Amino acid sequence: MVIVDGSVGEGGGQILRTSLALSLCLGIPFKITNIRARRKKPGLRRQHLVCVNAAAQIGKAKIKGAELGHQELTFIPAAITPGDYHFDIGTAGSTTLVLQTILPALIIAKGPSTLILEGGTHNPFAPPFDFIQQAFIPIINSMGPKINARLERPGYYPKGGGRFNVTIQPADQLRTFHINKRGEINECRAKAFVAGLPRHIAERELGVIEQKLGWNKECLQIIEQPADMGPGNIVCIEIKSQHITEIFTGFGKKGVMAEDVAKIAVNKAIRYLEAGVPVGKYLADQLLLPLALAGGGSYTTLKPSLHTKTNSDVIKLFLDINININQTSNDVWSISASR
Ligand code: AMP
Repeated sequence: MVIVDGSVGEGGGQILRTSLALSLCLGIPFKITNIRARRKKPGLRRQHLVCVNAAAQIGKAKIKGAELGHQELTFIPAAITPGDYHFDIGTAGSTTLVLQTILPALIIAKGPSTLILEGGTHNPFAPPFDFIQQAFIPIINSMGPKINARLERPGYYPKGGGRFNVTIQPADQLRTFHINKRGEINECRAKAFVAGLPRHIAERELGVIEQKLGWNKECLQIIEQPADMGPGNIVCIEIKSQHITEIFTGFGKKGVMAEDVAKIAVNKAIRYLEAGVPVGKYLADQLLLPLALAGGGSYTTLKPSLHTKTNSDVIKLFLDINININQTSNDVWSISASR
């Protein structure tokens, strides 16, 4: 049994999710202590419980400690069971993080699966649906599986109520990937979404993007969604290059000016554009697990976050793999994995 200390490094939910994902994929039981010890409200919250229960259902696992607030959990998986699943968080907790917990197992399963996920789809501190669909999934699909995700309804924090579905055709064997060049930038777009909020919020956000990135009006789009889907606002900057698509998001929040929401996304996009790397900061921590699962590969990214370093340490508890994280120049780093 692998013993995981949930308080190491970044000390958040990813340590639990990575452990669940790899435990399922490899059939290795684990015990985790100090779950989310470095978060304001430590222990299992609803969103993490849904991850645990979803993983347990898919892995026919025995679990101990899966209760709200608990900081210790034992997970003993049996076999990956593909099929049709429906997971509802019941709050605005992130559905995309639930997907990332169970997806690695379902892409190497013995048959296809369909998923319906309900809860938050565009949460701060989690990958928004658009990022999952346009940035994350295409890379996983390049490894062999066929994943298709469709948003039925957005769920903004704190209301939730979003829903998306996913179809998964697994691969016999995962192909590795090397994403070390961005290639030419083919398309730049910015989308400002407002649900049940005034249109001027989106206009002001796009105004900041127009001014700071110098993009012309054809690249900018306002998407007004029905009031009952809100209140909600996000602004997404999409950069589609020859070898990768990256998405930078600003999440609207009560009391935060629209201009400041846009600036958060703009600053992330500028850093990415200036560094000339293909893989951005968030994608970098999320690609580590699939890369390790495939047995090797590489990508070039920005200075790794604590999430990336911690994820690397957790992965090495489960898999006999070398993960090298090296600086190439100022804000350019290379990450590679090999057996
Ligand atoms: P944790 O904080 O441990 O629950 O992990 C949060 C996860 O969400 C990490 O994998 C981050 O890369 C990811 N994440 C957070 N914010 C964003 C964002 N704006 N876009 C994409 N991914 C994000």
